[in-house]
Amino acid sequence: MTDSDGRDLQAHLIEQDGLGWRHREEMKLLDVIALCLTTGQSHDIVAVAFDKRHILTIALSKNHATSVADREQASLFFNALSDPNNNRPIDIIAVIATYSGMNMNKRVRKVAESLNNARTHITALLDQYNAGSRDTEFHPRDPVLSFELDVRESLQRALDKFSFSVKDFDINGPGGRLDPIMMFVAASQAAYYLMKTRFIQSEAEKPTGLPSFQTFQRRLAKLAQYSRGIRRLFTYRDRLSGQIPPFRWIDFPLDDPRSVKISQSPLDVAFRVMEINPASTEYGDLFWQCYPVPIEHWITTVTPTFHAEMRLILSLDSNQESIDSVRPIGCSKRSCLCCWHWINFYNVAHGTQWMTASSHGKPYMNWGLSGDILVDREVVAAMRLRVCDVLEWMKGWKRLPSDGHASSSGSSPYPEDQEGEIDIELEALYAGGD
Ligand SMILES: [Zn+2]
Repeated sequence: MTDSDGRDLQAHLIEQDGLGWRHREEMKLLDVIALCLTTGQSHDIVAVAFDKRHILTIALSKNHATSVADREQASLFFNALSDPNNNRPIDIIAVIATYSGMNMNKRVRKVAESLNNARTHITALLDQYNAGSRDTEFHPRDPVLSFELDVRESLQRALDKFSFSVKDFDINGPGGRLDPIMMFVAASQAAYYLMKTRFIQSEAEKPTGLPSFQTFQRRLAKLAQYSRGIRRLFTYRDRLSGQIPPFRWIDFPLDDPRSVKISQSPLDVAFRVMEINPASTEYGDLFWQCYPVPIEHWITTVTPTFHAEMRLILSLDSNQESIDSVRPIGCSKRSCLCCWHWINFYNVAHGTQWMTASSHGKPYMNWGLSGDILVDREVVAAMRLRVCDVLEWMKGWKRLPSDGHASSSGSSPYPEDQEGEIDIELEALYAGGD
């Protein structure tokens, strides 16, 4: 399984279930609320869902127990959003700039990097670009439309200006001629107009497009999410006559700081899954060739973290009175691979349709099991398959004659005889063993 598989599978699921316009809009609203409530530190993931069981409320969770600062910031954010005097993205950006500054800087830095990486390619594409009329090329409110230039020159100018605006940016820096908050809003808005140009959209949709270009397009969208998303929140507020539903943080009872010992080396994990003798240095050498990561970077003890999506689902499902079939969850970052599997297996086991927008397809080694053994077992089985897939991919890989995995290529995610073994491992993990 590659890193993109989670994303592709999730998109497939959304298609299959016919996620309608209303749920997509709801997902986007929730995504931007989560975005405005994250600091941007790697562990600080926010998940948001509407709790429609009684009075409509906005339920919030993080990957960890919330701090006083988290709670204060959420109050500031929702108060600012409810204030009818605030109706421009900058009014909200000013309120979140200090708390979420790290995330905002990260998004600007990444789009700047990706533009740098794709610039030569973009210039070549523009040289050969068969441009349409100005009206079909640009968003109706794009200021580029006022330039006295032809379409290709206008595109080039827009890219140059954007590149300049995102260079060495720091939202909480001293600022120069322009206020950094204003510059951020302008960059986010410019990112939105750029990603809406026919040039960017048509190139990004080409299956033969260069990955560097697609990365640039994706990162434009991530930066644009601030300006576009906050406008969407204002529209939502106005539709509700200014009454944003009350919010509450999820109290999650499973938080348990006990650490768990894991294998001494990534090779031990692979050998354990594949039932290979660790003395088999042939595979050891091969492994280090494929993954030249120093052994000292391997963590042998982890503290399980219960991810924000799982916290929301387990808490909101404690009372099963669901009134809506599809239940979108907004996230400040795409779901990890374990959460993606967990949500899908949870839906199958409990007849629900929880959904996040997408997955980045990567697992985390400290991902905490939920305690719902049927669902956890499926996630563990899926992770075993992932390890097997990686080993299969390794160049020169030869399956041992005694390899139990050889019989596992049916439709079942794991061989029947591994079920008991997985249960034993789960019990040990629930008990806090290694
Ligand atoms: Zn996760």
